[in-house]
Amino acid sequence: MDLSRAAAEACDATDPLAGFRGRFAGAGTDGLLYLDGNSLGRMPAATPAALARAVEEEWGRGLVGSWREWIGQAGRVGDLLATGVLGARPGEVLVCDSTTVDLYKLLVAAADARPGRDVLVCCADDFPTDRYVVAGVAQARGMTVREVPADLDEGLDPAVLAGALDERVAVVVLSAVAYRSGALADVAATTRAAREVGALVVWDLSHAAGAVPVDLAANGVDLAVGCTYKYLNGGPGAPAFLYVRRELQEQLRQPIWGWFGQRDQFAMGRAYDPVPGIERFAVGTPPVLATVAVEVGAGLVAEAGVDRLAAKGRALGGLVVALADAWLAPHGVALASPRDPARRGSHVTLTHPRAWQLTQALVDRGVVPDFRTPDRVRLGLPPLYTRFTDVWDAMDRLREVLATGAHEGYPDVRARVT
Ligand SMILES: *Cc1c(COP(=O)(O)O)cnc(C)c1O
Repeated sequence: MDLSRAAAEACDATDPLAGFRGRFAGAGTDGLLYLDGNSLGRMPAATPAALARAVEEEWGRGLVGSWREWIGQAGRVGDLLATGVLGARPGEVLVCDSTTVDLYKLLVAAADARPGRDVLVCCADDFPTDRYVVAGVAQARGMTVREVPADLDEGLDPAVLAGALDERVAVVVLSAVAYRSGALADVAATTRAAREVGALVVWDLSHAAGAVPVDLAANGVDLAVGCTYKYLNGGPGAPAFLYVRRELQEQLRQPIWGWFGQRDQFAMGRAYDPVPGIERFAVGTPPVLATVAVEVGAGLVAEAGVDRLAAKGRALGGLVVALADAWLAPHGVALASPRDPARRGSHVTLTHPRAWQLTQALVDRGVVPDFRTPDRVRLGLPPLYTRFTDVWDAMDRLREVLATGAHEGYPDVRARVT
């Protein structure tokens, strides 16, 4: 592999997605090498105007009459995600609440649908909120949690997971892309293995949606949740999405019985009687303004196409790995992600004993990665607006920091947000 900057420039010159970069605020003008779009994606340039329109026209002038539009928004943006991003069918995705709350709703609904079973399975290295929700639901219902160990770098071994599956298992909660390493799960095979013992899987797509194809229909996925502020660029605190396979919707009932899931909502009926479709998973008044930004972000991903995004993400990750091997390994940096590009999402993680200090030194040099415990620098490579030369320049600055020992002057004590 040609590791020159000229080779990276040549990749940018032929990148079919290059035109999307200009559609994000700051990309190309703020000078930042922003490698943290898997934590908070950049702002689409069209978002402020879309928000201003919603505020000034729909709220400011339309007032309560705008609910005629707003009432269908969660499902409409859900359909955009379903068909443009997630490989699902219209009517299977709803934008609502946060990932944590949606996970809770689907986990309880799924556990209720498997009466007599007393075990929940999750991955010991999954994102904390997922493990906490599983633990909380288990405690409330008197169930047991089986936390399956996973390799911090390679992700969950399907054989290890298989060993935790039996007829006692009601629900399995897993991430399609591991937040720490970027390791990709085999969604289809895992869903099948769980189904063979009669269990349901709730997939967390937070680090997958907009980065890799998740093909929910083709992979036979029953239930999923994910956030929209990472690769979908919906903005801070943007509502999450949930997916329930159409055939399952009427069999499931979520635990928060709110009026937005109610049949003939404005009849103000006495008893809860949820609608048959995906909207039975809605709870209360939705975040209309925030969902406007989700629509813009998801629209860009749908326009670019998930297959093209994933291909570019793999190529960007490949460049990180090659440069890390060539330049950084002699300084004690090792790869903490799967080496095989087919087993990675769109971020790559490196480990070094001084990872927190390296992260701070990079931020001072215009490179924004993030730090993840215990000793990792995580490089997010959102394919919509990350160039090959951005990766090359960021790695070059990291090489420079390591070579000069510039990171050693930074505090060892971690900040509250890393
Ligand atoms: C980012 C992320 C979340 C975020 O949950 P919130 O409720 O939006 O804070 C949850 N799970 C995973 C796997 C994530 O990566």
